[in-house]
Amino acid sequence: IFSTMKSNWPENWDTAVAADRAHVWHHMTQHKPYETTDPTVMVEGRGLRLWDAAGNEYLDALSGGVWTVNVGYGRKSIADAVRDQLIKLNYFAGSGGTVPGAIFAQKLLEKMPGLSRVYYSNSGSEANEKVFKMVRQISAQHYGGRKSKILYRDRDYHGTTIGALAACGQQQRAESYGPFPDGFVEIPHCLEYRRTDGTDAPFGEVAARQIEEIILREGPDTIGAMCLEPITAGGGVVLPPEGYWDNIQALCRKYDILLHIDEVVCGVGRTGTWFGYQNYGIQPDFVTMAKGVASGYAAISCTVTTEAVFDKFRMAPDDPMSFFRDISTFGGCTAGPAAAIENMRIIEEENLLTNTLEEGAYLGEKLAALQDEFSIIGQVRGKGLFWGAELVTDRITKEPVPEVIMKQIIASCRKQGVLVGMTNRSLPGFNNTLCLSPALIVGKADIDEIVNAIGVALRDVKI
Ligand code: PMP
Repeated sequence: IFSTMKSNWPENWDTAVAADRAHVWHHMTQHKPYETTDPTVMVEGRGLRLWDAAGNEYLDALSGGVWTVNVGYGRKSIADAVRDQLIKLNYFAGSGGTVPGAIFAQKLLEKMPGLSRVYYSNSGSEANEKVFKMVRQISAQHYGGRKSKILYRDRDYHGTTIGALAACGQQQRAESYGPFPDGFVEIPHCLEYRRTDGTDAPFGEVAARQIEEIILREGPDTIGAMCLEPITAGGGVVLPPEGYWDNIQALCRKYDILLHIDEVVCGVGRTGTWFGYQNYGIQPDFVTMAKGVASGYAAISCTVTTEAVFDKFRMAPDDPMSFFRDISTFGGCTAGPAAAIENMRIIEEENLLTNTLEEGAYLGEKLAALQDEFSIIGQVRGKGLFWGAELVTDRITKEPVPEVIMKQIIASCRKQGVLVGMTNRSLPGFNNTLCLSPALIVGKADIDEIVNAIGVALRDVKI
């Protein structure tokens, strides 16, 4: 299934390391430490394992660092599908169709009842920007420009572009990049562990009521859409409280607000269903996805919507402005959908959704056992193979563990050959959730190795 052996090994990769250090500007990275240490340059991957240029082996509990490589590294059949497609037809603009683009759209929509149109682009940020533009154009052409506001949630993240940062619930990511476009309004998060309302009323209702107050304050007829992650990823692996999603759906219907679910992380199997929203029985108007769509074998993202939304863009065939005036040179052509078709076939053939549920339950049990052993773990949260452990210095006050300690824990795991992460620069002082999201092929022995490494790291850490 996977590419054979580590190729050309051992090989001297010093040139690559030197070139990286001299020329590559890494994402989200402070480069000062590279003055005295080498950057990690990854060379090869197979299944859940990675090897770097220094010859170190890692068990990757993060699916490529950011919840991406859902079917694991080294999938020869995806590489072959992409290669064959590139030889046949490498490119044609998205204003026309291509065979893999059409076939993947059909296969994808079979998994998404109630949705019927796929708009292709290249990244999660871009897929979300498409929604924002669609909502704005619907507002302009159908509501005289009045229904243009977009609600986004505290803690949620929707991408790195200026528009997506205007909808960013993680202050540190947006800081310094303003001014942002108008009309993006923040609503509260739904992390019950950190509720601040001071009551013990069902939090699924409290959180929804807090949102309704903002809808009423802003004026429902000014709000076009509400954009939420089904389970918040970078903002702390936030699972919705009981009843939350039913209440959100009801609010959207009551106030005629389009429901946009950002499945960039949860999409394509991560939570044990094809999409995260399908755990909660809701019917979105927009779904965006990227990372796991082709597991990182090619760049592809999708904005999926309903026929009702699509219809708003063909209401007046004789109106030259009545179409979505957006373009993306590489969107959907052709390596992306070719990889995505094979990625989906693998998930089905290898029963990876079932594996995600079974192994995810096992990972949850192991983390709960770790919580019994270490009081530093305030709460364990997760679904499928998407888990977080929020670390606190005191279980009563819930004081977040300082970021420097989080970094020590992650470094210790890495030293033991296991890659785990933390929520990234979400709220100041709240980067305190350890993140685990191995590829959907993970087995019990891998999970034992991951959790053991965390145990060792927690035993060694001094607060
Ligand atoms: N939405 C969510 C929920 C994400 O986690 C991310 C990326 N981490 C994005 C959107 C942006 O995706 P991309 O980096 O592909 O633009």
